[in-house]
Amino acid sequence: MQELIRKLLAEMGEDPTREGLLNTPNRVEKAYRFLTSGYHTDIDQVLNNALFTVDYSEMVIVKDVDFYSLCEHHLLPFFGKCHVAYIPSTKVIGLSKIPRVVDVFARRLQVQERLTNQIADTIREKVRPLGVAVVMEATHLCMSMRGVEKQNSFAVTSAMLGAFRDSARTRMEFLELIKLRSAVPGVREAPSYACVADD
Ligand SMILES: [Zn+2]
Repeated sequence: MQELIRKLLAEMGEDPTREGLLNTPNRVEKAYRFLTSGYHTDIDQVLNNALFTVDYSEMVIVKDVDFYSLCEHHLLPFFGKCHVAYIPSTKVIGLSKIPRVVDVFARRLQVQERLTNQIADTIREKVRPLGVAVVMEATHLCMSMRGVEKQNSFAVTSAMLGAFRDSARTRMEFLELIKLRSAVPGVREAPSYACVADD
């Protein structure tokens, strides 16, 4: 990877041998290895011993989970807040594990919509709840830094499964509790104004 970064620096018009850049390929490699470490993380290991059998069926909400990811179209960051809710059937997951699950999928090359769905699908598969909802709000640097003319570089995506899809009341309760800064796209309506691959 470091040789590629040196080539990239030269292509940018830089001198990869000047002092300030000498160790840059090493640092960039470390950064990218970390930012894509989710490819090598086993979700079952992350959830190890954190599923508990309970007699509890009220909505569980973890809101304002910070996340940082890289858009797969430009390799630039998008980042923001993730809100997760589920309604337990027989099991709950340790609350501290939710941000870990978010990290596993955020630390890959992503589009926001897929990231949102992967988090929801994983919780559905591993916890088997009556329903799961994930809402992500993010700023995309590939849009804001490049000054792309879109009305909004702040994108909101959602995945609503089970009870959150079937019951408008459950969905509204969740959305009320997380008090979004902007509107959530409709459940079936395709999002959005996140980073798109058109340029
Ligand atoms: Zn992008």
